[in-house]
Amino acid sequence: MLYIGCHLSSVKGFENMGKEAVAIGANTFQFFTRNPRGGKAKDIDPEDVKRFLELSEAENFGKLVAHAPYTLNPCSATKKVRDFAFMVMEDDLKRMEYVPGNYYNFHPGSHVGQGTTKGIELITEVLNKIIKPDQSTIVLLETMAGKGSEIGGNFEELKEIIGGVEQQDKIGVCMDTCHVSDAGYDIINDLDGVLTDFDRIIGLDKLHALHINDSLNPTGAHKDRHARIGEGHLGLDVIARIIRHPALKGLPCVLETPNELDGYAKEIEILRKAYEM
Ligand code: FE
Ligand code: FE
Ligand code: ZN
Repeated sequence: MLYIGCHLSSVKGFENMGKEAVAIGANTFQFFTRNPRGGKAKDIDPEDVKRFLELSEAENFGKLVAHAPYTLNPCSATKKVRDFAFMVMEDDLKRMEYVPGNYYNFHPGSHVGQGTTKGIELITEVLNKIIKPDQSTIVLLETMAGKGSEIGGNFEELKEIIGGVEQQDKIGVCMDTCHVSDAGYDIINDLDGVLTDFDRIIGLDKLHALHINDSLNPTGAHKDRHARIGEGHLGLDVIARIIRHPALKGLPCVLETPNELDGYAKEIEILRKAYEM
């Protein structure tokens, strides 16, 4: 079963996202837990959630991916910035229990000159504070393009963070196809090799979700500019090979391509066809 969807606006609540997803042929989706810049979160309406959960069950949705605000930096050199990341993520995880059993994805952050080792230490510290043993959400580290002092631009760094997390069953990875290519992994010519590396270093059992994006830039560019499917350096064939790969079967695939809903509907249709081939 292919679980595919895209990033949707959460402004009008869960039921609205569910309906939008169905309308564009999606059976999963991603959403920001709050304003992507990290503002105050809207109160969750339990009635809205209830209607969404009914719809989600009727439509056989796969697991959802919530995305933390991308401006958070849990490994900032400034304590105030780290504390803010902690506060937001802890609150987000509480709110995630309204839609239990899904994923919460975040960008590991930038070490801003403190060095990778220090950055990893700070991220692990935040994770061990926010992850509670009884939560139903799995927290995902996103593979990054390796821009600037970004942590998570290679599998070794992600492995180190994961290795420091106490609740091993509550931590995993979301692989972004644009980021991983920008980071220098040759998924165009050697997808099997990249996945073998991932398995050896992190373990494929830790891979829970995929961000499906084409990249405006070639492998190793460290730029992080998403392109529509088939309009970048990866191309439709490479992306089709990814979603069909036996090692990745069943993972929620989320498009974060520059599109409005109608554009996403087209991409979903194209990828569903490619999946069947
Ligand atoms: Fe992201
Ligand atoms: Fe992404
Ligand atoms: Zn990106």
